[in-house]
Amino acid sequence: MLRGSLSLGRCYRAARAALRPLHTVYQTAELPETHQMLRDTCREFAEKELQPIAAELDQKHRFPQDQVRQMGQMGLLAVDVPEELGGAGLDYLAYSIGVEEISRGCASTGVIMSVNNSLYLGPILKHGSEEQKRQWISPFCSGDKIGCFALSEPGNGSDAGAASTTAKLDGEEWVLNGTKSWITNAWDASAAVVLATTDKSLKHKGISAFLVEMPTPGLSLGKKEDKLGIRASSTANLIFEDCRIPRKNLLGQPGMGFKIAMQTLDAGRIGIASQALGIGQAAIDCAVDYAEKRLAFGAPISKLQAIQFKLADMALALESARLLTWRAAMLKDNKKTFSKEAAMAKLAASEAATQISHQAIQILGGMGYVTDMPAERHYRDARITEIYEGTSEIQRLVIANQLLKEYRS
Ligand SMILES: Cc1cc2nc3c(=O)[nH]c(=O)nc-3n(C[C@H](O)[C@H](O)[C@H](O)COP(=O)(O)OP(=O)(O)OC[C@H]3O[C@@H](n4cnc5c(N)ncnc54)[C@H](O)[C@@H]3O)c2cc1C
Repeated sequence: MLRGSLSLGRCYRAARAALRPLHTVYQTAELPETHQMLRDTCREFAEKELQPIAAELDQKHRFPQDQVRQMGQMGLLAVDVPEELGGAGLDYLAYSIGVEEISRGCASTGVIMSVNNSLYLGPILKHGSEEQKRQWISPFCSGDKIGCFALSEPGNGSDAGAASTTAKLDGEEWVLNGTKSWITNAWDASAAVVLATTDKSLKHKGISAFLVEMPTPGLSLGKKEDKLGIRASSTANLIFEDCRIPRKNLLGQPGMGFKIAMQTLDAGRIGIASQALGIGQAAIDCAVDYAEKRLAFGAPISKLQAIQFKLADMALALESARLLTWRAAMLKDNKKTFSKEAAMAKLAASEAATQISHQAIQILGGMGYVTDMPAERHYRDARITEIYEGTSEIQRLVIANQLLKEYRS
C-alpha cells in the first residue's frame, strides 16, 4: 500500500514536472506572465484596429491588408515559429490566446491568422528541409506575404484521403492537375501547401504534399465564394492545369502527404477552437452590454432571471471550451499526444460559439436581427467553426476512435 502510494507520488511529481505550464494554469487559474502580456496586447489591437471596422470588412468582403501587415509586425502571423526564422518564438498556448483575441475583434481576421500559422507554416516547420524553411517560412512571418493550405476538393472534403488532384514527376518538375476547393486566403496568398496524389493505387498512402508559389503558370483561381460569414477572408478554388513546379518543392517524403495533412489539422483545430472562443466572447460582450442598458417594464433586462440564466449558460459553455482549448494547446507544447483533445476543444468551442451567438440574438430581441448591432454577424461567423478543419461529426469520430483505442489497449 505504502509502496503503491509512494510510486503514485513519484508518478505525480514526474507528470507535474513534465506538464508544468499546464499545472500552473490549472492551479492558479492564471496565465504565465508572457501570455498575459500577449493577451493584453492582442486585446488592445483588436479593440482599436479591428472591432471598429469589422462590420464594414464583412459587408464589403474586404481583406484587412493593413491590419494583417501590422499583425505580422507584432509576430502574430508566425507565433510558434522560432525567432531565427522570423517568427515570435512563442508556443501554441500563446497562439491560441492570440487567435481568440483577434477573432473577438474580427472573426475573418482570426481565420486569416489561423490559416497562416497552423495550416501553412505549421507543416513546413515540421516537415520542411532547412532550405525550404528559409524560402517558404521566413518571408511569410512579417505580414507581407501569407500562405494557404489546399486539401479539400469538390468531390471530397471529410473524406480527404480520396484526393483526385494528381502530381506526376516529369524530369526535374512535378506536373499538377486537378481542383482544390474552399481554399481560405486563396486570393491573397503568395504560396500554398497542396496535397496531391502521386500514386492513386496506394489510396491515401499515395498522397504527397507540395509547396506551390502563387501566382504561378498553370494555376488559376476560382471566383471568390459569397459566404454566410467570415466574409473578409477570401475563399476560392485553386485550379491546376499542367502546373509545373520544381522537383525540390516536395514537402517531406513521397506518400507522406496524408499524414502531414492530418497532423496539420490536429494543430489547426486548436486555432479554430480559439477562433470560436473569440466569436463566443464577442457575442457575450454584446449581450451583456445590451442587457445592462435595455429597459423593459421599468428595469434593465439584466435583472430578469430569464436573461441571467441565459448569460450563465453562455459563460459556462465558453469557459469550459476555453479550458479544453488551452489544455490541447499545452499538451502540444509539452510534446504529448493531443489529437483527441484538439478535436474535443474544437467541438466544444464551435458548438458553444453557435449556441452563445444564438442566445445573444435572443437577448437583443429585434436589435439582434439587424446589422446595426454585431450580434447577427457573430451568429453568421460562428457557424463555419462547426464545418471547416473537420465538421462536428468528424470531430466526434476522432474522439470516439481515440477513446475506443485507449480502452482496447
Ligand atoms: C469557408 C470555408 C473555408 C474553408 N477553408 C479550407 C481551406 O483553407 N483548405 C481546405 O483544404 N479546405 C477548406 N474548407 C473545406 C472544409 O474543410 C470542408 O468543407 C469540410 O471538411 C467538409 O467537407 P465537405 O464540405 O466536402 O462536406 P462533406 O464531407 O461532403 O460532408 C457533408 C456532411 O456529411 C457529414 N459526413 C461526411 N462524412 C461523414 C462520416 N464519415 N461520418 C459522419 N458524418 C459524415 C459531414 O459531417 C457533413 O455534415 C473550407 C470550407 C469552407 C466552407
